[in-house]
Amino acid sequence: MLSDPIVALATAPGRAALAVVRLSGAGVFDVARRVIAGFRVEPARTARLASFVGPDQQPIDRGLYTVFPAPHSYTGDDLVELSCHGGLQAPARLLAALQAAGARPAAPGEFTRRAVQNGKLDLLQAEAVGDLIDATAPVQAKTALNQLEGGLSRRLTSLRESLLEVQALLSYDIDFPEEDDGPISSEQIASRIDTVAGQIQRLIATAPAAERVREGALLVFAGRPNAGKSSLFNALLGTARTLVTEIPGTTRDAVEADTDFLGWPVRLVDTAGLWDAPADIDRLGVMVSRRYMSSADLVLLCAEAGRTLGEEESAIMSERPTLLVRTKTDLSEAGRDELGVSTVTGDGLPELRRRAASQVFGRQVNLADLEPGLTRERHRTALCRAQEALALSVPHLGRQGDAVLAAHHVREATTALEELLGAVDIDEILDRVFASFCVGK
Ligand code: GDP
Repeated sequence: MLSDPIVALATAPGRAALAVVRLSGAGVFDVARRVIAGFRVEPARTARLASFVGPDQQPIDRGLYTVFPAPHSYTGDDLVELSCHGGLQAPARLLAALQAAGARPAAPGEFTRRAVQNGKLDLLQAEAVGDLIDATAPVQAKTALNQLEGGLSRRLTSLRESLLEVQALLSYDIDFPEEDDGPISSEQIASRIDTVAGQIQRLIATAPAAERVREGALLVFAGRPNAGKSSLFNALLGTARTLVTEIPGTTRDAVEADTDFLGWPVRLVDTAGLWDAPADIDRLGVMVSRRYMSSADLVLLCAEAGRTLGEEESAIMSERPTLLVRTKTDLSEAGRDELGVSTVTGDGLPELRRRAASQVFGRQVNLADLEPGLTRERHRTALCRAQEALALSVPHLGRQGDAVLAAHHVREATTALEELLGAVDIDEILDRVFASFCVGK
C-alpha cells in the first residue's frame, strides 16, 4: 500500500540521550492515539510533552511528540515524530508499541521515497539526503546540501522545459506540414536543440570530478620499500595507523583510510612496495599494490629527496596520473621544482594536500562556490542518453526531414531528463535509488 502507516527509529541505535521515532502514513493519528496519552493533532508542528504507553497500558517513557499533518511534513503524508530517551530499551519498546498499534516497520529509505512520490522532493534531492547523511568530508556535505536545495534539479528542469518547447514547435510542423515554415524555422529549432545539447555536454563534463567528490578520490602511495610511504600515510592522517618500520617490505597488505585534503574527500591507500619483494607474501602484496594503482585517481609516488629515479618509477610516472613526492627532506634537499616533504619536521605536508587536491579535483578546488555537478553514474547515463537522442533528432529537421521522427527523438531526450528528476513514476528507478538508504530515512 502506498501510504499505509510505517514506523522506524530515525536516530542511530545505541546509547544516547535521545532517540527519535518517525511515524508516517494514512491513519497514523489513530496509531499515535493508542500509544501517546492525551494525543492531540492541534496545535500542529508544536512539540508537546506526553506519556508513551504500551498495549497493556504499561508506561514506556515520557517524551515529546510533534504532529505534522499532510501535506506539510517530510513525507507529504500525516507524520508524527516522537522523541524518547535513547539506549536500547525505551526506543525498542516504543517501536514495538507503535507496531502493535497498527504501523509496520519502514523499509530502508521509505520515508524519503514517499516524499518523492508525494512531490515533496525530486529524485536528485532524495539522493542528496542520502549523500548528506553519508558525507565524511566538508565538501561532500556542501555538495549534497547544494543538490538538496535544488541546484542540479533547477538546471535539469530548465533543460526539460526547453525541450518541451522544441517538442511543441515540432508538433506545429506535424499538424501543418503544408506550411512553409512553422512559427519559427527549422534552422532555429536546430539551433535550440544545439544549445540544449551544449548545456547537457557541460553537465556531463562535471561528472568525473563530482562523482569523485561523492565517492572520495583514490590516492595510492607507491614507491620503493623504505621510501617513507607509511610514515607519510600516517602523517597525512594524523594518526599512526600502519606499522612503520625500517625492514624493507613490511607493509604487506593495503591499508585504506578516509580523510580530506582542504575539505576535499580522499581515500588514502598505503600498499606494499612495488620492488624487491623477497618472500611469497610480499609478492602477493605487490599484486594488491598494482591493482590499486590501476584504479587510482592519483598515485603519490614517494622517492627520497636527491635520489635518482629508477626505471620503475619513471614508468609509473608515464603510465598513471602521478604526483612525485620527494621524501625525507630533513636529510637531503628536494630539487627546486619538486614537492618535498618531511614527516619528521612536517614540512611540505600542506603543499602536498593542496597539490593533490587540485590535481584530482581540478579547477573546482579554487572556486568558492561549487557548481552543481553529476554525482552519480545514474545521472551521467541519463544525460548521455538524452544527448544521443538529440543527436538523432537533428537529421530529421528541415523541409526534407520527418518532423514526426525528430519529435520522437526529442521526446526520448525529455524522458531521460524526467527519469533523472523522478518526474515520472517509475518503480524500478525508485527501487534502485532507495536500495542503499538506511531505515528511518
Ligand atoms: P615505506 O617502506 O615506504 O612505507 O617507508 P616507511 O614509512 O616505513 O619509512 C622507512 C624509514 O624511513 C623509517 O625508518 C622511517 O622512520 C624513515 N622515515 C620516513 N619518513 C622520514 C622523514 O621524513 N625523515 C626521516 N629522517 N626519516 C623518515
